[in-house]
Amino acid sequence: MASDSAGSVQPCVLEHVTKKFKVRSRDRRERRTEFVAVDDVSFTIEPGAAVALVGASGSGKSTIATMITGAQRPTSGSINYGEIAVHSLRSGGLRRYHQDVQMVFQDPYGALNPLHTVAYTLQRPCRNLLGLSAHEADKRVQELLEQVGLAPATQFAPKLPHQLSGGQRQRVVIARALASNPGLIVADEPVSMLDVSLRAGVLRLLAELRESRGLSLLYITHDLLSARVVTDQILVLNKGRVVESGVTKDVLQNPTDEYTVQLLNAIPHPFAAAS
Ligand code: ADP
Ligand code: MG
Repeated sequence: MASDSAGSVQPCVLEHVTKKFKVRSRDRRERRTEFVAVDDVSFTIEPGAAVALVGASGSGKSTIATMITGAQRPTSGSINYGEIAVHSLRSGGLRRYHQDVQMVFQDPYGALNPLHTVAYTLQRPCRNLLGLSAHEADKRVQELLEQVGLAPATQFAPKLPHQLSGGQRQRVVIARALASNPGLIVADEPVSMLDVSLRAGVLRLLAELRESRGLSLLYITHDLLSARVVTDQILVLNKGRVVESGVTKDVLQNPTDEYTVQLLNAIPHPFAAAS
């Protein structure tokens, strides 16, 4: 079925991307200083690849995510999705680009309008980005709900966000991201606000959808172990710089960067007490 495969899956190439923010200086003589949140970052997400971007809080992960989706522009450097120069897109181009690249945010509570039903939330991208008729959009909503494990769809479509659990809401957010048949999904800490018991299910769903649709995934997390479940490649970010990259399994087994070792050591070991 056409609606089951990704739309335009293109390489996403970041070259020397830097983002500086102006911040108020504590020193009164110097009123404003620059803070480098992302520092000369280059990497490529190949079509169909699942890449993890890991790093401690404040290391620049979300800033990279928002630059890839075009919500913020780099201070310097370039981001290209296939032929599209994302770093210089304006409103019309950005709208078309959002058919190809979609984002799943950390907070499934804040991401959904509390006044809109699940059906309405999912119909909108089908109509606005894909130009489907009301009837076609309805059909697509049913398919999307079933694909994210919210079945029977007729039970979930009329619900409002507060009538859903956190895990169900995040599935709706994922369905909304899939609605336009994107080629790349950027998921920024998509399970960190969910109950521990629900995390594995949502991660498995992301991994399965990526595989079955052949889309690319940038999975952002501070949790190195979850990166292993979802991704083949990993980039480790420290203070805005990529300090290590490679095959996820290898990097986690044999980290060469001191900071990656620290991140791995910070993970509580489930059997530590028993040994
Ligand atoms: P992460 O997602 O890895 O936790 P962020 O990308 O959100 O990190 O932030 C990286 C750094 O940039 C942080 O120190 C943050 O405070 C700073 N930062 C992010 N956005 C802004 C902004 N709009 N203005 C000033 N500083 C910002
Ligand atoms: Mg973040």
